[in-house]
Parts: sequence; C-alpha cells; structure tokens
Amino acid sequence: MFRRVLLVFGLLVLGSGLPGSTVRVLNRSNQKQDVLKTLDNTSTTYVSILDLERVLQAHSFINDKQEKIVLYVNNHRIKVSAETGFVLVDEKVYQLPLEARKVERDLYVPANSFFRLLKSVVMPGLAWDPVSKLLDIDVVEFNITGLTIDEKANGTILHLNTRERFNKEDISTFVNDNGWFYITVRKGLVDTSEVLRAETRGVVKRVTVDQLQESAQLAFQLRGEVEGHEFYQTVDPHELVVTLRTPLSKSAARIKDVKDRWRLDTVVLDAGHGGKDGGTIGYYGTKEKDITLDIVKRIGRRLEKNSRIKVVYTREEDVFIPLYERTKIANEHNGKIFVSIHANASRNRNIKGFETYLLRPGKTQDAIEVSSRENAVIKLEDQRRDNYQELTGENLIMATMAQSMFMKESEALAALIQEELDRQLDAPNRGVKQAGFYVLIGASMPNVLVEVGFLSNPIEEKRLKSAAYRQHIADAVFDAILKFKQSRERVLAEG
Ligand SMILES: [Zn+2]
Repeated sequence: MFRRVLLVFGLLVLGSGLPGSTVRVLNRSNQKQDVLKTLDNTSTTYVSILDLERVLQAHSFINDKQEKIVLYVNNHRIKVSAETGFVLVDEKVYQLPLEARKVERDLYVPANSFFRLLKSVVMPGLAWDPVSKLLDIDVVEFNITGLTIDEKANGTILHLNTRERFNKEDISTFVNDNGWFYITVRKGLVDTSEVLRAETRGVVKRVTVDQLQESAQLAFQLRGEVEGHEFYQTVDPHELVVTLRTPLSKSAARIKDVKDRWRLDTVVLDAGHGGKDGGTIGYYGTKEKDITLDIVKRIGRRLEKNSRIKVVYTREEDVFIPLYERTKIANEHNGKIFVSIHANASRNRNIKGFETYLLRPGKTQDAIEVSSRENAVIKLEDQRRDNYQELTGENLIMATMAQSMFMKESEALAALIQEELDRQLDAPNRGVKQAGFYVLIGASMPNVLVEVGFLSNPIEEKRLKSAAYRQHIADAVFDAILKFKQSRERVLAEG
C-alpha cells in the first residue's frame, strides 16, 4: 500500500515538469521529448545507459556475465562496466570521476561527466544543462573529422580532414615556449577519437584535443625545433593543411640514419642443425648438418671476397645451437637479412628439387611436414621449453604479424633465391612456400629458409655430396643476395 502512494507521488512530479528524479530529453531533429531514469538518493545525477540507448537511437549489447554494456552510437563503440569509472570509447580509455552503478541489467553513469565525454568524442550536438536537468540533442556533425601526419625531408605536414572551409580569421596557430604547437579553430567541432587515432611521426610527438564551447583546439607536442609554420585549406578533399618546417640539417641526419639502417651491410648465414642434431640423413648416410654448414661457408666466402657485406654465422663448426639462440645472434649483430640453409627429406624417394620458405601459417600438407620435421630439433634442446611458444593459432598469427613488415622483403629475397637456383641448378624448382618455422621467428629482419635439395632422393643426395654442386648452390644464393642488395639500394637512391 505504502509503495503505491510513492509511485503516484513520483508520477505527479514528473507530470508537473518540476526538477525531480528524471532527466528530460529534447531531440531537436524530431521535436520528441523523452526522459532518462536516474538513481534515487544520490547527490550526483546518474542516468540509465539503456534509456540513453533509446533516446540516442543507438543500439546496445549487454554482457551480463562481465557486467558490461556496449553502446553503438554514430559508428563509435562505448563500453561501460559496472563498479568502475573507466569507459572505453573505440580503443581509447576515458575515466569518469565516479563509478558506473549496476541496477538489474542496466548501468547508471554520472550524467555530467558522461555527457561531456559523449559530446567530445561521439555527439557534438549534445547540450546538457545540469541545473534544469535537460539534455538537448541536436543533429550536429563534427566538422573536423580526422588527422594524418606526414613526414618530409624538411618538415612535418598535418592534414586535418574537415567538412567545410573555415574563415581564415577563425583559425589561429602558434608555437609556445614549452614545445607545443596549437591550432585553434573557431566553430570547430572536433571528432576527438578520430583525430587521436592519427599516428604521430616527424616532429610531432603527441597530439591532444580540447573541445571548447566556441572552438576546437588541437595541441601537438613537438620533439624538436620548428623554424616556421603555415596553413592553408584545400577543397577537394576538404582539408586544413598545416606545415611545420624543421631545420634541414637534423632531418638530413635522420634520413642518413634511416638509410644506414636500411643499407644491406650485414648478412646472417644460418647452417641448419649441428652437433647432436644431425638433421635428416640421406639414403647413403649423408647428414644434413654437414651439407648445410659447407654450403653456408661457401656463401660466406663469396660474400667476404666479392662484396662489402659483413657475414655473421650462427655456427661455423659442427656444434649444437638452440634455435632461439640463432635469431638472437642475428638480432645482436644487426643483421639485415637472415638466410637459413637446410636440406630436405620426403618419404617419397622420387621427390627432388629446391624450395624456399617464408614464415606464414602453413598451408599445404607438404609445408606442414617440413616444418614439423625442422622444428623437431627443439626436443633435443636442453633449454627450457618456454623459449618457444606453441606455434599454433594466435601465437602463429602474432609471430606472423611481427614479421609482416619484413614479409614483403622476405618474399622478394625468396623469389630471387629461387630464380637464381633455377638458373644455376639442373633440378626442379619447387617454388616459394610458406610454413611456420621456429628458426625464423624473432629475427627482426627479412628472413628465409632454403631447402637446397632432397637427401632422401639418392640421385640428389649424390649431387649434394659433390663439392662442385654445393658451390653452384652457394653461387646462386650469393647472386640472389647481391641482386636483393642492389634492388634495395635502388629504392634508397630514389628516396
Ligand atoms: Zn633442416
């Protein structure tokens, strides 16, 4: 009985339009009015996320188990969790001063800070009056919608994507003494989360954005001196372009630095297997570890004699080197490419030929067999197993992603090696293949694994036992490395 009285009282307050326990909403686009439920007995106004979903015409996903609600508004994803003030908008974390509270399946968030967040990153047309508790929704679009930063030899260029051309007088730019550069745009409504997605480069170290009442302000923390700055606007596409000029000498030094890092001056040669790990064994008893070491030495000798490339060997004797140690050696010596030499085996004794492998999730059954055989060496290692993660699913994808920037180059190198082997050997070209090899993972440089021939094929084994044939293989790999170096340095000269 008592409850019903309270309810009637509540309705009266709502009906009379007095400030009470609800937040009124006015949507200007359709003149519709609505209300948001709030929490009782709190000094701060908390509003219901599920009511907000309705009035913002958003949709939501409720994760009851994790006590989270994800709101999808204007192509943005807002994740609110119970008992925490952290809110995730797309990939960025924001903190509200008060925690979200859970009531049944709904979550309630502090109105003032949450609406401020929504306005700055999702809905610029939001206006909230905390005194009359009125939320005014206007369909206003951001007019500064993104940022890209370009690095040039003598400066850094900021491209702000805009939806309109601003009056020149409404734009101001200046560098302050603390090493920050500011752009203020009057009547600018900035899509904060989009702009903050920009990758910083050049003289720009960090970007921050402030949506003020009348204007948008973007601030850029600088990592060096800016000699001067200019801006102009373009129409197709709409952009506000700002150039930050930096002293040329410093950029020239940076370019040299980049070129030095790019220059192919060190090659890491990796002879497969060794010591207690013999690798595969041929029909006539030839050991893979001996063939690979001999070929690697022949490649190395040619590089030392006929090029100015420094050679680093992962092993020069018949010793056992754990696989992770090989990539470590490569990285520590600043190797620019990593070439691992192996010899193949198949249950089918007729199969012969050469192939070069890239690190990628294995595709064909053949590739899977080769990789599981080459990786079998890990069992021989005395080291802890946790130097290697299981190369399946996510780990393989992660390792592959880390490799992706070297992938294109590895492909180019692999193609050149196959091309040269094809030209210089009378054996079937089995092409460039993909497999997950431990030995290649972790090398922060383009890397390939060459299977020079099949020891399981008696004819090919006989050839691999001949020094002249091994020299042909070494010559082919040497030529491929030189061609790779030339094409890489051609790119440098053009840049
Ligand atoms: Zn091998």
